[in-house]
Amino acid sequence: MMKWKSVYTQAVHAGRERPVPDFSPVTAPVYLSVAYMYEDVNDLEAVFDGKKAGYVYRRHGNPTVRAFEEAVATLAEGEDAVAFSSGMAAMHATLLGAGVKRGSAIVSAGDVYGATYALQRDVLASLGVRTRFVDATDLGQVAKVLDEERPMALVCETISNPLLKVADVPALTRLAHKVGAQLIVDNTFASPYLFCPLGEGVDYAVHSATKYLAGHGDVMAGVVVCSEERAKDLRERQKMLGANLGPEQAWLALRGMRTLALRMRQQCVSAQTVAEWLSGCAAVADVNYPGLPNHPQHSVAERLFQGKGFGGMISFDIRGAHQPEVFRFMEALKLILPATTLGDVYTLVLYPAHSSHRALSPEERRQLGIGDGLVRLSVGIEEVGEIIADLGQALSFTV
Ligand code: PLP
Repeated sequence: MMKWKSVYTQAVHAGRERPVPDFSPVTAPVYLSVAYMYEDVNDLEAVFDGKKAGYVYRRHGNPTVRAFEEAVATLAEGEDAVAFSSGMAAMHATLLGAGVKRGSAIVSAGDVYGATYALQRDVLASLGVRTRFVDATDLGQVAKVLDEERPMALVCETISNPLLKVADVPALTRLAHKVGAQLIVDNTFASPYLFCPLGEGVDYAVHSATKYLAGHGDVMAGVVVCSEERAKDLRERQKMLGANLGPEQAWLALRGMRTLALRMRQQCVSAQTVAEWLSGCAAVADVNYPGLPNHPQHSVAERLFQGKGFGGMISFDIRGAHQPEVFRFMEALKLILPATTLGDVYTLVLYPAHSSHRALSPEERRQLGIGDGLVRLSVGIEEVGEIIADLGQALSFTV
């Protein structure tokens, strides 16, 4: 019974207090509350101090977000995981967590997501951090630059965006640790279905959960898998940086993740079929897909992914194409969506030069091998024959 008589007070407090339930919901509830209370205020103090488990304020932690983090840590074979509001927020916090600061250096794969490249080239450079970009598949070059720079961190993507190079993560771990650098692997394209970097001694595995983990194009989220100690440090930073994942987004990501294995299994099978078809297509000059025997890191991919497939991402060069021909191809698609994301149930196509890698100058793209005719394809879970038929009819518009 409400003890307050005034409608003003009732409107504010009625229905707010609920008894602790003696039932369990089947799915994790969405806890929207910003703050939490305890009967004994000393308990609040103990939670603030980290001496007692619990929640005080949403920027310090939230039970729905925690459920998502625990699920990711389990899937990705890490001690712990910390969620962020986006993949980029996760990467930024991770670089800081790895000790990157004024006067220090990073060695990074050049072939990384455009915003990751620009974060290092622009934002961190403006704070006095130097980044040397390397070809992460050239282990001799990586070793030499690591030795010259003695960086705080080595950054790479398991399967790179957009050229689909595969990093020899165990070898890179050894090289990084030899010079005291922490290895940060963006595992977005592989997802924990194909590969768990922590099992190879990697210090931080960063994921844009916006992609395969959530998988349905309706969530923006990032998550870092790491040791308990590193996670504790990231959480302390998050209290100040505030790039927290919201509970509704965490809930959607968690729901999407329930079908990660099923989606990825199908996407790997379909992408292999599409890549093989593209390889025989007259309108296509080059196909980048780790599952093709002529892919330069095919054997590395076989070793890392252990027969589970080679991912759902493909990139290919339309023969002789520049922006106008690529745009004609994208506009001619009827099933495949020309949209700026990846890893969804929908098949998606993107033009890196004007989208994911727009932040790079034409010269930077040319040096990395991102040509004007390069198209990135994220294979969804539709019937593969219909995906191929759509590609076929749209490619006929490029010639
Ligand atoms: N890492 C990779 C490999 C990506 O492709 C992306 C986005 O496309 C990101 C990180 C950034 O993720 P978000 O868009 O969730 O910030």
